[in-house]
Amino acid sequence: MQQDKIVELIKTHPLVKDLIALKEVTWFNPEIAPTAEGLKDVGLTKDDIADAAARLNRFAPYIAKAFPETQPSKGIIESQVRPIPKMQQALTERFGMPLSGKLWLKQDSHLPISGSIKARGGIYEVLKHAEDLAVQAGLLKYEDDYSKLFSDEFRQFFSQYSIAVGSTGNLGLSIGIMSAKLGFKVSVHMSADAREWKKQKLRANGVNVVEYKTDYSVAVANGRKEAQKDPTCFFIDDENSRTLFLGYSVAGERLKKQFATLDVTVDNEHPLFVYLPCGVGGGPGGVAFGLKNAFGDAVHCIFAEPTHSPCMLLGVYTGLHEKIAVQDLGIDNLTAADGLAVGRPSGFVGRAMQRLIDGYYTLQDQEMYQLLALLDETEGVRLEPSALAGMPGISRVLANQEYLQRMGFTKAQLDNATHLVWATGGGMVPAEEMEKYLAKGRS
Ligand SMILES: *Cc1c(COP(=O)(O)O)cnc(C)c1O
Repeated sequence: MQQDKIVELIKTHPLVKDLIALKEVTWFNPEIAPTAEGLKDVGLTKDDIADAAARLNRFAPYIAKAFPETQPSKGIIESQVRPIPKMQQALTERFGMPLSGKLWLKQDSHLPISGSIKARGGIYEVLKHAEDLAVQAGLLKYEDDYSKLFSDEFRQFFSQYSIAVGSTGNLGLSIGIMSAKLGFKVSVHMSADAREWKKQKLRANGVNVVEYKTDYSVAVANGRKEAQKDPTCFFIDDENSRTLFLGYSVAGERLKKQFATLDVTVDNEHPLFVYLPCGVGGGPGGVAFGLKNAFGDAVHCIFAEPTHSPCMLLGVYTGLHEKIAVQDLGIDNLTAADGLAVGRPSGFVGRAMQRLIDGYYTLQDQEMYQLLALLDETEGVRLEPSALAGMPGISRVLANQEYLQRMGFTKAQLDNATHLVWATGGGMVPAEEMEKYLAKGRS
């Protein structure tokens, strides 16, 4: 973008100046609408979420057989939610302010099969594709016991087809492992920032890993191009996929059931704030869509991004969505936060969710590392850096009088609030990598 264009953009959108300066920024969305209104922008409904949930239930017997670690949950890929009171106390000291309400952690970091939030959307899209192919070929009926897919006959059938995806790491892990298990040929196009251990794990699972020296958007574009050449190849489009989005959205109703079991009340007098790390937007957008459908106006979703990759904030705040990338402003998109190193947001998610997300903020990598060490010290939970992005959210909300007053929150409501940090990854980080993360955070 030319310098005079940037100057003009800053005149109409002053926060852009702070984004370029890599300052930590918080922006609460003035366009936020009642849930029933906002949901009209999405183009997907509660029925679509129910359809996705039913599909995952059909596949559960297969998942339980193919991945024995999912047998305790009968093949349902779900994570635990737990209170983190010691971390809340530590954050009160760290931020030097009282933090009312109760802080919880949603441990998608420890989802089975691929150890990140991508075990929701990524795996779901592969399963849907497999189901479509098998049903069309007359090999499968919706009423069947899907554990029959775990067989040489089906692996043979799926081996005629291939799947491709572009990824910074975690999406590739989910799609690679799931596709290979079913028998597909699968290529993962990995951006330069992807971790070596993730590539190794994929290769060990029989996945073709294509490496790039460039960032995520180039890896995606190349994956897409490759797939176009081959009619038997299915490209999973992280930037635009409604299917991925719906896979994530199933989390909403499931969380509602978990909270009910744990006697956590969520209603207008007991608001729920959810802090979601955001890369291209599909994961947090899909989860937020599910949450809005499950909890309505009682839930408030806030997205968190690295100061070096604030693509969704930039896209929604300027209204330019996928038409602007952080690199257009000279921001380098270099961050230690796997999954969040994305320069250009999903235009689909930005527009679909533009009146449903209460706010956005950025934080520095160093902050993620320090919070990583603090969570380990206080609660004994180990995450990868990106998964800590949601942790400062509670303080950003409670420190913002403009937002709190505009929303009309009373002291009683804030005292009764639940603040949920969505921990998106880290369960499969090798021990020696984790030690390096911890050392960085402690120093
Ligand atoms: C992918 C990812 C996210 C964000 O999901 P998007 O769909 O890219 O927005 C957050 N955290 C982790 C660990 C991820 O891998």
